[in-house]
This record gives sequence, C-alpha cells and structure tokens, in this order.
Amino acid sequence: MNTQAATSVPPISIPLCVPYLGEAKAMQWIQAAIASNYVSSVGPYVDQFEREFAAYVGAQHAVACSSGTAAIHLALIVSGVGAGDEVWAPTLSFAATINPILYLGAVPTLCDAETVTWNLDEELLCGEIARRARTGEKMPKAIVGVHLLGDLAPLSLLRATCVAHHIPLIEDAAEAVGGRYADGRHAGTLGTLGCYSFNGNKIMTTGNGGMITTDDPTLARRAKHLSTQARLPGTAYDHNEVGYNYRLSNLSAALGLAQLELLPEILSRKAAIAARYREALVHFSGIDLHEPPPWSRPTHWMYSVRVSRAETGIARDEVLHALRAAGIDSRPLWSPLHTLKPYAHLPRLFAGGAHTGSVAEVLFSEGISLPCSAGLSEADQDRVIGCLRALWQNRGLTTDQG
Ligand SMILES: *Cc1c(COP(=O)(O)O)cnc(C)c1O
Repeated sequence: MNTQAATSVPPISIPLCVPYLGEAKAMQWIQAAIASNYVSSVGPYVDQFEREFAAYVGAQHAVACSSGTAAIHLALIVSGVGAGDEVWAPTLSFAATINPILYLGAVPTLCDAETVTWNLDEELLCGEIARRARTGEKMPKAIVGVHLLGDLAPLSLLRATCVAHHIPLIEDAAEAVGGRYADGRHAGTLGTLGCYSFNGNKIMTTGNGGMITTDDPTLARRAKHLSTQARLPGTAYDHNEVGYNYRLSNLSAALGLAQLELLPEILSRKAAIAARYREALVHFSGIDLHEPPPWSRPTHWMYSVRVSRAETGIARDEVLHALRAAGIDSRPLWSPLHTLKPYAHLPRLFAGGAHTGSVAEVLFSEGISLPCSAGLSEADQDRVIGCLRALWQNRGLTTDQG
C-alpha cells in the first residue's frame, strides 16, 4: 500500500534540528577510543572531557553523566533535596527539568515565565521569597532555573536572593551549552551547580550524555561518587551509600571531545541562521522575534518566534501545518507542565495565584520553533521563509519593508 498517497503530506525534507557531527574528526576520536579498548565508564577521555568542558565554561569542576536528566538528578541530591522537600522550577520547560525532583519524592512548585526571554519570572520568585521571609514560612529547598531554548535567563536578582537565603540555585543549561552573559560568564556557572545535556538534538552531542559543573569541590566529588554506584576506591565492592550508574562512557566522551572542538563553529552557524531569520521576519507583521536582551549571548538552540493571533489572525497550528505541507518540520514550544496530566496537581506559583492563567500558556499558544540545524543550508532556510511569506501574503499581511 502506498501510505504517502493516503496522507498526501510529503516526507520531511527540512528537519527541525539534527546533529552537526563533523564526521572525519568524530571518527578519529571514536576510533582512538575503540583502539584503546576503553569504551565504558572507565577511560581517559571521560576525565579529559570533564577537564576541557570545565575550562570551556569557566567552572572549577565538571562531572560527566549519562544524560542531562541524570545530571539534574545528581545535582538535586547533592543540594540536599529529599522526600517531601519543595523545589521551585519553571512550568515552561521540558519535563526532564522536573522529573528528577519527583524521582526523589520531592515536590516541584511550577513557576510562571516572563515575556522577554520566556524563562523564570525572577521578580515573582523573589517576591515570594521576601513574603516568606516576612511570615517565617519555609523556604524552597532548592530552585531549578532553565535557560529555555538556549536563551539566557535573567538570574542576577534571583541569584542574589538565593545567596542571601542560602537556597541552592541549580541551572538547567541543557539547551544553552556555550550560551553566555555579556560579561562572559557561561550559562550554568552562576548558580551552585549547572547541568548540561548532550542528547542528539542539543547544541552538541555525545549521543546520550550530560554534565554537571560547580565551583564547589565537595559537591563535585559527591556527584561523581554517586554517578559511579557510590563505590569506594579499592578492589573490594564496598559502597557507602545507594549510588547510580550515571557515569558517561569513554566512547561517548570521545565524541564529546570531537564536538567540543566543533562547538565554536556550531555556535557561529546557529547565530548566522538566527540572524538570517531575523533579517527576513522582522518585516512580517504580527511576529514577535523574541530578541535577546543586550546582556544575553544566546545559543539560538531552537530559533523560536511568537505569532500574534490578534494581529495576524493566524493560529499557531496553521503555521505548523503550512510548513509541514511543504515538507518542513517546525514545533510548538514545550507544553507548560502544569497543563499535563502527571503534573497538573502540583503546586503553582503564578502572579495572579494558582488558579489564574499563566504567561507560559500564552507563550505556548503562540510560540513556534523553526528549523535551525547547524548544517541548515541558506537555500533550505529560504524555503522556510518563503513558505511563511506565502502564508502571510495570502492573508494580506505585510512581509516587506515598504
Ligand atoms: C534535553 C533537556 C533535558 C534532559 O537532557 P537529556 O540529556 O535528554 O536527559 C533537561 N532539561 C531541558 C530543558 C532539556 O531541554
């Protein structure tokens, strides 16, 4: 049976975001790992990858993990989070930001977003901390901030408040490897601990993998210990607590080292793609380009814009369908977690109270991520832009300067 004829939707010819591997270099590193016979969680490349990653982001210590989710899980444990503890996290993020909180029997409070970078509304959080300080209510055990879609979160106020109240701040920088603030500090290095992901769809990849960074040697040592089954040094199988099999493999670290060499090129390609989208879409009526504030040097992991339904009359899903009909993949943003079944019962921190609408839902209803693989050709990008232009012009909307 010809399934293609039945659906009439062409296969995807422009994917959303696929890895940029630099095959020759990647093969060299992987071949060397195989030649050394070290392919698992022991081997020189894991340590080298940690050293080079820590140096790259400007952290004192790095602990390589089997995934970004594992990194967040360990970061929470070493921050002292346990059963019954309250941990604040954004409602507008990937589920992996909060799942590890739930693994620990702790309770995530889902916090609303702000409209500039779409990250945690730090004024809302700081206001709640100040209120609790006045009433003597219990503070959250930890806060997980996310750099959503590679956009640096405004964290200076929140960071200072966390320091003042001794609340560990964990940065989920899974989507922001290489993202910086204007003063040069990397995403993941402001808080107590930073967590990164090297999944296949992220900025750089090790297949599956992640990293924790911190300047605190005690936290780093404990995270590494827990990632290797909490086994004590020596030949005996002696364990002093319940550990995890969360160490990155030497084979994955080999790919990580190759990707780290390629990272500047990946980031500059991503930036060029973002600049070309901006140049074209800035003239479209009703599109909010979600431009980074002056203090932010984002990674443009997922190039995303907002289409104002009120100004264009175009619904988000109409844009997704028009692109898909042209063989182009695009996506809505992460579903606000409080709107999903496994998380709907969790406590919320919204400006208007738990039962009001959230900024996150408005962003979700209008946000679209466009194809932005580091290897995206200009011709393919022009096809994406052309498809959007046709949709806009079809509705009599402006798409040009004049
Ligand atoms: C990808 C991602 C993670 C999880 O990383 P994995 O390596 O896939 O486990 C966590 N948080 C965010 C925001 C992510 O995008």
